[in-house]
Amino acid sequence: MKLSLVLGKGNRVAVPLPSVSQRIQGFLRAAKPNAYCTVCLAKSLGFSLLYKGDPEAIAREAVAGLAPPTVTRATAVCTLCGRRTLVTSARS
Ligand SMILES: [Zn+2]
Repeated sequence: MKLSLVLGKGNRVAVPLPSVSQRIQGFLRAAKPNAYCTVCLAKSLGFSLLYKGDPEAIAREAVAGLAPPTVTRATAVCTLCGRRTLVTSARS
């Protein structure tokens, strides 16, 4: 999927939209050292508006694909909902 940006009159450029995992990585880097569960990642990043299907399943699948030097996964308290569950954070 591409996003069409208007730079000026008659001047447009198509840029690729970031993938689900790019969005999640960007969010986690910006929020470092906070950790989030997949439900909160899906909500915070507006996945229900951006993608068809179950937003939490989309976030869960993308998080599972993020390799451990980039992110850390552990059972801990989610920064947003406060549940003790499997959370993901950017590695410092
Ligand atoms: Zn949460």
